[in-house]
Amino acid sequence: MPAAIGNRTVTAMTTASPTPDATAVHELRGQLEGTLATPADAGYDALRASWNLTFEQRPALVVEAADGDDVVAALGFAHEQQLPVAVQSTGHGTGVACDGGLLLRTGRLTQVEVDPVLRIARIGAGARWTDVLPLTAAHGLAPLLGFNPHVGVVGYTLGGGLGWLARRHGLAVDSVRALDVVLPDATHLRVTAAAEPDLFWALRGGASAFGVVVALELELIETPELFGGMVLYPGARAAEAIAAYADWAATAPEEVTSSVAVVRFPPLPEVPEPLRGLTAVSIAACVQRDAAAAEALLAPLRTLGAPLAGSFRPLLPEDLGTIAMDPVDPMPAAGHAEVVATLTPELQALLAETAEGERPLVIAELRHLGGALARAGADAGPIPRPAGEFLFHAETVVPPGPAGAAAHAELARLAQALAPHVAGPPLPSFLGELETGPERLEQAFPAATRARLGRLKARYDPDERFRFGRPVPRGWAG
Ligand SMILES: Cc1cc2nc3c(=O)[nH]c(=O)nc-3n(C[C@H](O)[C@H](O)[C@H](O)COP(=O)(O)OP(=O)(O)OC[C@H]3O[C@@H](n4cnc5c(N)ncnc54)[C@H](O)[C@@H]3O)c2cc1C
Repeated sequence: MPAAIGNRTVTAMTTASPTPDATAVHELRGQLEGTLATPADAGYDALRASWNLTFEQRPALVVEAADGDDVVAALGFAHEQQLPVAVQSTGHGTGVACDGGLLLRTGRLTQVEVDPVLRIARIGAGARWTDVLPLTAAHGLAPLLGFNPHVGVVGYTLGGGLGWLARRHGLAVDSVRALDVVLPDATHLRVTAAAEPDLFWALRGGASAFGVVVALELELIETPELFGGMVLYPGARAAEAIAAYADWAATAPEEVTSSVAVVRFPPLPEVPEPLRGLTAVSIAACVQRDAAAAEALLAPLRTLGAPLAGSFRPLLPEDLGTIAMDPVDPMPAAGHAEVVATLTPELQALLAETAEGERPLVIAELRHLGGALARAGADAGPIPRPAGEFLFHAETVVPPGPAGAAAHAELARLAQALAPHVAGPPLPSFLGELETGPERLEQAFPAATRARLGRLKARYDPDERFRFGRPVPRGWAG
């Protein structure tokens, strides 16, 4: 179903898939340690579900792998049956729907091992940051996790990965040191910069188009002293708070990663008072300095007076996932994000305006970029460094019916208003849930990068077996 975001029309790719042979499906079921479900099986609906409830997919079969051998068996089966394949961990970052293909679920691959000497974590494809943080924290180490600890480590990292330590340490994708991958022809190999330079480059931005990552090895940082949190003010003070934030952020050093947001808390019993049903403006920050230095850095924000709720305080690495108060339970979400050059008065006004009246938005935010995010390492993959100082990002809840149509319309209005301010490619991990069409995917990578991805696609996945999620169209090769 086509959907319009701003002036872009977004159309899901449609492809006919062969029907898998029933005897071969039966044999595969017998080989697996994990679970296989077809539409005839009771577990099918649970296994094809995503965190994002707007996303519908009807695969021919779902395999929930219990180990790497299951991934090899499933991909060998798909190769023989010429069946297209999608891979899903949590379903936070949905894309092109896996209709008629084999959906490989990684949720049981949650093993995490930390090597404190090499400062490397080996992380299974189904792990979320909540599985990783306690184990790294025990060694005084931290990964470059994002605002939300419940997203999958692999999907987040290989889509870029923008988190609380980003202005000092860059995108999480740059911390990848090795990938354990099963390719479309069921070859299982370890990919490093030295052993497989082309695949190492392509996977760090194009993962779901090249194979199934069974495990990732990430370099960890020594945990710095952390200080920060979130403070909230009434939405009526949005313009004033955003202006104070803009002045403060303009001179903040790289050790500070922060955001300012207009947040609409739902009127639900689980939301604590005084936030229940409230529209608020939040300022959130993570400072990699000791308490005294951090307090001094945050002091200019105190001119806003006592917040309605929240505080800045010393943080443990485990607290990083709680700063943003992101939703945990599955929901029907749609979003849009763009990198913008600087926090101009027009952009401040655009954000402040989202606090006015009744609107179907959950959050509209500006995240501070720059610092290490602007610097690509020598072995950077396909993901371009953000070409501006801020990320403007909005999310809506999209219920069925007219309320959902209003949510889409609000997002489209914001996308149109943002268009003149766009400074460069969107970050792949922030591509909105409906933004899977060729035009929007093209915007995420420069022409030369698309051409190299397309050539590697033709080499490693000539039959376009991996055509779901965030695909790399073969046509990009030119
Ligand atoms: C509430 C919320 C908060 C978020 N906060 C942040 C944030 O702070 N910073 C940030 O950078 N992003 C953020 N994101 C975006 C998030 O990082 C992406 O949506 C990410 O792709 C989610 O990964 P996943 O594995 O959980 O989701 P999935 O939907 O399971 O996977 C996402 C993509 O990765 C591919 N993939 C997953 N596992 C594998 C694998 N093993 N091998 C190959 N491909 C694989 C999938 O095919 C799919 O294309 C947020 C998203 C949501 C919904």
